[in-house]
Amino acid sequence: MPQLPIDVYPFVLAILLVALAAAAMELRASVQAPSCPRCVHCRHLAMERRNAEERERRAVAKRLWGVDDVDDEDARRRP
Ligand SMILES: [Zn+2]
Repeated sequence: MPQLPIDVYPFVLAILLVALAAAAMELRASVQAPSCPRCVHCRHLAMERRNAEERERRAVAKRLWGVDDVDDEDARRRP
């Protein structure tokens, strides 16, 4: 592993934590996967959950770095 300047570590740590949180959320989502994947109702529930997690993730990113990547979400909402 290459030697990193000491002031980079908080940033790397933050990235690692976000990645870990994202991985944990995905793991949780896959654990809670619908029991009947072909059912429209369960697919809809899974989609809602994914959207909620995506919003959560973006809120975290925005809080941490002032990153606001809502660009394509707004585009998708428009007809
Ligand atoms: Zn179902």
